[in-house]
Amino acid sequence: MAGHVRTKTGSRLGTGPGNTCGILTVSGGTIGRVSTYRESAVVLRVTKLGEADRIVTMLTRRSGRVRAVAKGVRRTKSKFGGRLEPFSHVDLQLYAGRNLDIVIQAESLDAFGSVIAADYSKYTVATAIAETAERLTSEEREPSLRLYLLLVGALRALADTGRDPSLVLDSFLLRAMALAGWAPALTECARCNRPGPHAAFHVAAGGLLCQDCRSIGSARPAIPTVELMAALAHGDWNTADAAGGSSRREASGLVAALLQYHLERGLRSLPMVDRTQPEPGPALIVELADQIPVTDIGVVR
Ligand SMILES: [Zn+2]
Repeated sequence: MAGHVRTKTGSRLGTGPGNTCGILTVSGGTIGRVSTYRESAVVLRVTKLGEADRIVTMLTRRSGRVRAVAKGVRRTKSKFGGRLEPFSHVDLQLYAGRNLDIVIQAESLDAFGSVIAADYSKYTVATAIAETAERLTSEEREPSLRLYLLLVGALRALADTGRDPSLVLDSFLLRAMALAGWAPALTECARCNRPGPHAAFHVAAGGLLCQDCRSIGSARPAIPTVELMAALAHGDWNTADAAGGSSRREASGLVAALLQYHLERGLRSLPMVDRTQPEPGPALIVELADQIPVTDIGVVR
């Protein structure tokens, strides 16, 4: 009976990768077929459920965004320990429930959850990254492998490198927007494709605009700012790491404005991000991006 095992309640139902089916037996009696599956996942968010349980929202490698119940996780003697905290990268065994799945087992794949939680800048950035990942997966169980890989890469860069967390965030946001089909035009004109560089940047138009296409309400970011955004979008870290503080802050403002334009409502966590690491630069666009509706963004300077 390939693919089927008999098991007692609470015992591990499957050990291999992929999906397994089992027939759940209690005191020797079969109560029905159950199916378990194994997944790699990053925990995006946890919410309380009852006295001791939690609902864990995660982005999985194969199954997209999944919500599952972790029983007893808030007890001090939880078998999961601290492995199901936000930003944990885990290998899970799950039981496919009727409504929500149930976490049977959790093994840590990377320890970056605890590293990130110990650093305020990294924590606020990771929170914005996780919220973005959740918002960009509007449908549960819609496979999002590329977003999953991008998410793991961003959290690993936050935890394991000395890279400016703010740059890691903006790189993640630009690349996540590209996966969603919202890549801004950073070298050519967003309207006519004329090769740049161009001086005008218009959020609603989707990036740079040439002299002929530019419209009222365009921003005029410094050339190094746009170069930084292009480097972040393509993972060119040699260029990104060399960027000055004012370019970083201006790029952050434009990236936030682009994201806010595409999402129905802005990210709750983005204004909380600690951007203090680079030297302070012009705050104009950052303020606009955080506080003013996007239709008003874009000041000709
Ligand atoms: Zn044009």
